[in-house]
Amino acid sequence: ISRDKIRNFSIIAHIDHGKSTLADRLIQHCGGLTDREMKEQVLDSMDIEKERGITIKAQTVRLTYTAQDGETYVLNLMDTPGHVDFAYEVSRCLAACEGSLLVVDASQGVEAQTLANVYQAIDQDHEIVPVLNKVDLPAADVDRVKAQIEDVIGLDASDALEISAKTGLGVPDVLEAIVQRLPAPQTGEADAPLKAALVDAYYDPYLGVVVIVRVHDGVLKKKQKIKMMRTGATYEVDKVGTFNPKITETDALGPGEVGFLVASIKEVSDTAIGDTITEEKRPTDKALPGYKDVQPVVFCGLFPMDANDFDELRAAMGKLRLNDASFTWEMETSAALGMGFRCGFLGLLHLEIIQERLSREFDLDLIATAPSVVYEMTMTDDTEIELHNPADMPEVTKIKEIREPWINATIYTPDEYLGGILKLCQDRRGIQTELSYVGGRAMVKYELPLNEVVFDFYDRLKSISRGYASFDYEIVGHRAENLVKLQILVNDEPVDALAMLVHRDRAESRGRQMCERLKDLIPRQMFKIPIQAAIGGKVIARETLSALRKDVTAKCYGGDASRKRKLLDKQAAGKKRMRQFGKVEIPQEAFVAALRMD
Ligand code: GDP
Ligand code: MG
Repeated sequence: ISRDKIRNFSIIAHIDHGKSTLADRLIQHCGGLTDREMKEQVLDSMDIEKERGITIKAQTVRLTYTAQDGETYVLNLMDTPGHVDFAYEVSRCLAACEGSLLVVDASQGVEAQTLANVYQAIDQDHEIVPVLNKVDLPAADVDRVKAQIEDVIGLDASDALEISAKTGLGVPDVLEAIVQRLPAPQTGEADAPLKAALVDAYYDPYLGVVVIVRVHDGVLKKKQKIKMMRTGATYEVDKVGTFNPKITETDALGPGEVGFLVASIKEVSDTAIGDTITEEKRPTDKALPGYKDVQPVVFCGLFPMDANDFDELRAAMGKLRLNDASFTWEMETSAALGMGFRCGFLGLLHLEIIQERLSREFDLDLIATAPSVVYEMTMTDDTEIELHNPADMPEVTKIKEIREPWINATIYTPDEYLGGILKLCQDRRGIQTELSYVGGRAMVKYELPLNEVVFDFYDRLKSISRGYASFDYEIVGHRAENLVKLQILVNDEPVDALAMLVHRDRAESRGRQMCERLKDLIPRQMFKIPIQAAIGGKVIARETLSALRKDVTAKCYGGDASRKRKLLDKQAAGKKRMRQFGKVEIPQEAFVAALRMD
């Protein structure tokens, strides 16, 4: 194919604004699938994605479109993950395209993720076509949303398309706009040494690791010996092809083309997103710009409820890791929870997705400890360490300085919820940096410690705003703060899984709150149990759980043996869901509930 007949584009949108629906319509229009195949939403394949309406992994689809000018074009649609946790993957995906469709729900308007994504596209010098979706809805307000796109983003919206991805209205105009308004790949020499971007990779049970590539220079062919410039690893290409959207093998991919390669790569972790792929024999002299190592920013411990499930958990994590190189884990032993894993994630959503997949796809009952951010510490001997687990905190006397990650958060909300949101941010040690109004909505920016956001900030924001506020953030760096390790002691034993780093000013109130919560969450036992919060050796809060006198079967006066049996069985099942601490049992829910903030 000649380069000028290629269009590589992505669709960027806030969640639920209709990206997947539009993608399906485009595929349908270009005849890639039968009606029956169309019924299943094509681009969101994983269950969790479908239920949450998010796209986790980027995927690509090649469309063949005959335009009104009579020419046939190849349109490569790159589906970007919409969420901030995957910002780096989004940026690599956008770097593989020349233009974007900016889809905005005409009844909702611009949201936080619309902005985050569109700025990334602008950074990549994309040509951007604004598309107002859902014009079939009575609440659609095309003029207001156009004005918003111009005022907030600074894009000309006079030529914005007005469509309904649901009914199909205006969809043919979208295809024409892609051909007429988005540029073809500008450069690329077929006889130059191969230079291709590694856009994404996933593990397929039949093919093994499938690598999504965008060819910039040269030709990628079957049997070619390729080299990953980052890792230096070399492979022989077994298969080359495209997704139409079904896997279709071809012999080669030329300059400007997007497709996949398979090359007996063992694990997704052997491929680095953003890496440059070249020929082994005739390498290109310069790698593509913008490569970045991705680092997990949120950690938590995952432990099997039942210690016998440990091996199963290990196997499950290995399988997940095959498909998601950004998820990291290492073994961890907790005095309270036994053997488990310390896991690293790109962000909160990523953490939730992995936890959910472990319990859903592998049917594992897990205890997750409180999410923790990565703290940086300078020790008194001037060595630097990174702390991933509050339980591992070194002795305070050896620490010179502790730094925690801060974020820049952008929140969009209808006016009426602003008060509650400002209070939430203030309570989380937030520093307001901007407050403005755009078309009946407020946009507020805060600097916040990530630590204060990791637990339940999203949930609180959603409930305060009845789901109307949208949120996005970026990490801005680490700042030195007065942080202390708060320990919880149950029956005089420290519970390592409940240890956390908190700001000194918040330690008392946090400690008191944890003790009060735990008092309600831990079932009473045959003896009195002190529940304490402490910093170093100093107790700062205390509650006492009084002793229990009756046992469960006391109510059944002798006679009914089967009922007695049932009660005891129930108790045994309940026990399985508990964790033993010295002489005390703590139910799993207690961990989660104790860590929730108000
Ligand atoms: P995504 O999160 O951006 O991929 O959004 P989806 O494509 O999953 O759409 C989110 C919801 O909006 C779904 O329930 C769609 O059926 C609905 N939707 C998408 N496009 C339209 C439209 O043009 N009109 C209406 N009324 N609903 C739409
Ligand atoms: Mg979607």
